[in-house]
Amino acid sequence: MKHQETATVTVNRPLGGSYYRLDLAAPAIASAAQPGQFVHLRLPLFQHRVLRRPFSICDTDPASGRLTVVYKTVGEGTEHLARLPAGGTADLIGPLGVGFSAPPTGRLPILVAGGYGCAATYLLAKHAPRPCLCLFGARTVGDLLLLDEFRALGCEVRLATEDGLAGHRGLVTDLLVDALAGAADGPPPMVYACGPNPMLRAVSRLVLARGIDAEISLDHAMCCGVGACFACVVKRRAANDDGWEYVRTCVDGPVFRASDTVWDT
Ligand SMILES: Cc1cc2nc3c(=O)[nH]c(=O)nc-3n(C[C@H](O)[C@H](O)[C@H](O)COP(=O)(O)OP(=O)(O)OC[C@H]3O[C@@H](n4cnc5c(N)ncnc54)[C@H](O)[C@@H]3O)c2cc1C
Repeated sequence: MKHQETATVTVNRPLGGSYYRLDLAAPAIASAAQPGQFVHLRLPLFQHRVLRRPFSICDTDPASGRLTVVYKTVGEGTEHLARLPAGGTADLIGPLGVGFSAPPTGRLPILVAGGYGCAATYLLAKHAPRPCLCLFGARTVGDLLLLDEFRALGCEVRLATEDGLAGHRGLVTDLLVDALAGAADGPPPMVYACGPNPMLRAVSRLVLARGIDAEISLDHAMCCGVGACFACVVKRRAANDDGWEYVRTCVDGPVFRASDTVWDT
């Protein structure tokens, strides 16, 4: 069930680089949120901009009503957000969208993420069975988020950076190739991915070529967030004459099966 709440900021602190952690008191949304869903946030300082900004729900504590978002400053809205002090408020709608399905017992969850995708998979890791393998990739080490927090959950964390400053020098998909090969004799893997679209596309190709599927969280700019404006459509395979249909990232996603996703060339 969706809620609209005036949420009070309890923490808004830099995590390094351009990343921030935002904790909000948003009890109704925190109680209802599922891994992979998002909130649509409007700032009081920002009323001249009509559109809300979407952010994945990183973590929740339903007992205290805490909802955590990790965000990167990339433009006017997120720069404003970074200046919001503790005690300030933001208007939230959420939880929105279709998130990740719960990893079934007897499968090996493999989470593949880059940038704020790490934060967007944290709640999934929290609820996933163990062992849980997290493959995180970034250009450099400053874009790898919440590593201690994932380790504290008991996840095995493997890293790839393009400059080689942390973990494997190369792409996170290199780690996925190795992980899938290593998992051949164990429980069947269940792959979840969140990050930039080129990464998601590469992950999709890789798993589908091996006859397995993945759940991928598409990062598509969106406007209304509730399915009304059709600004965030993507193509999904369908049993019609075209072989595909348009679906809305905000209400039909953001999480889709890799095997259902049609990438425009
Ligand atoms: C479902 C979903 C979940 C998201 N979760 C997170 C999250 O957990 N943490 C986080 O930091 N960001 C997240 N984003 C992206 C975030 O919504 C945008 O970065 C934010 O709206 C930018 O607002 P702005 O006003 O600062 O930038 P704008 O001034 O609107 O744009 C500045 C720059 O950012 C680019 N940009 C805008 N939206 C996106 C986007 N969706 N993806 C990539 N580039 C974008 C623009 O093209 C432009 O180059 C998510 C987006 C979606 C759709």
